[in-house]
Amino acid sequence: MNILILGGGGREHALAWAIRQNPKCDRLIVAPGNAGIAAIARCAELAIEDGAAVVAFCEEHAIDLVVIGPEAPLAAGVADALRAAGIAAFGPSQAAARLEASKAFTKEICDACGAPTAAWARFDEAEPARDYIRSKGAPIVVKADGLAAGKGVTVAMTEAEALEAVDAAFGGAFGAAGAEVVIEEYMEGEEASFFVLVDGTTCLPIGTAQDHKRVGEGDSGPNTGGMGAYSPAPILTGDLQARVMAEIIQPTVDEMARRGMPFQGVLYAGLMIRDGRARLVEYNVRFGDPECQVLMMRLGAQALDLIQACAESRLDSVSVSWADDHALTVVLAAQGYPGDYAKGTAIRLPEDLAESSSAMIFHAGTAEREGRLVSAGGRVLNATGRGATLAEARDRAYALAEPVDWPEGFFRRDIGWRAL
Ligand code: ATP
Repeated sequence: MNILILGGGGREHALAWAIRQNPKCDRLIVAPGNAGIAAIARCAELAIEDGAAVVAFCEEHAIDLVVIGPEAPLAAGVADALRAAGIAAFGPSQAAARLEASKAFTKEICDACGAPTAAWARFDEAEPARDYIRSKGAPIVVKADGLAAGKGVTVAMTEAEALEAVDAAFGGAFGAAGAEVVIEEYMEGEEASFFVLVDGTTCLPIGTAQDHKRVGEGDSGPNTGGMGAYSPAPILTGDLQARVMAEIIQPTVDEMARRGMPFQGVLYAGLMIRDGRARLVEYNVRFGDPECQVLMMRLGAQALDLIQACAESRLDSVSVSWADDHALTVVLAAQGYPGDYAKGTAIRLPEDLAESSSAMIFHAGTAEREGRLVSAGGRVLNATGRGATLAEARDRAYALAEPVDWPEGFFRRDIGWRAL
């Protein structure tokens, strides 16, 4: 089978690494890829948000399956273009991708199917939004409706902060994404992520994870795309997962199908858990980064069988072969991230880098320049370990991270602290 992966981050390196291990994988191309991916697959230039260009590329290279990593091509309808051309695609249609692209849409779906989530209201004008905030009081959460790269959400501890967030959104701070605003009840609890493959009707859970969003140790400082993650998430017990499937995931999937926009791909539910009950915070319609790295390390080669079954609408014919293991990933980022940082700084990986099925450095923002590895983004490497216990996985991950010679980089030393 010839496979094309769209994307070029740590998520896509982990996907490529797992897929490559499966003997069913013949040719593997990743667009655009990165310096780490180039060691295991062919990297190609391609306008990955242009459905017609992706279809033409697939026809030229006899691609049988396309795995879409990031949300932008999904929101642009690349999966629709592929399916219309008869090419199997892993990732939802543009219509179904609204579960991530519009927060108001997700809330509507939750209301329609009875999935527990924060109480909410939507506004397309500032004054009624301000009145609503004044009537509810703080803490309260203000969200730009559309995709704003994680920056459109304000968890406001005071009314003044919430009012400011409304003004920012309607003042154009998030462009079209902020033309509509969702205001939500503040939920307290512990957050965890739940990943479920969905083929339109059938759902197959493939793991849980928790991540560290803050840049600093002890979960302090500004928000980032994620500084580390681990799987499984101890708080999402088997019983709670069953309940989330029954109360949130399956009802959502059924409601989407009923509306004629069946969801096909990975549904990533961000959950808030308190007193043994889970409520939905948000959906993403693709794997998380860095959560994907720990999921792929645990699933290994079977990831391809699962992804293929999902894309071919036959999830009922497969099951996950679980190992009683743990994985943990540590993000190495450029100093200054998530603020300004330098690109193009030299990174030296140890000569005797001992990578295995339980220890891998997945590349995110890396490139090769004159035969040398350099940084090319904010989050640059993901040192990932797997073990019989979370502590063992952590030790393997840090054993990979420590010897990386990159003076312009840094990483948190406390990934997994909550679970450990
Ligand atoms: P990202 O893609 O970075 O996860 P996003 O822009 O899609 O973010 P959300 O996930 O909806 O936005 O919100 C971002 C974060 O804000 C959540 O992970 C959670 O920590 C917090 N948050 C969102 N909604 C609520 C809520 N109702 N109560 C408490 N915290 C919330």
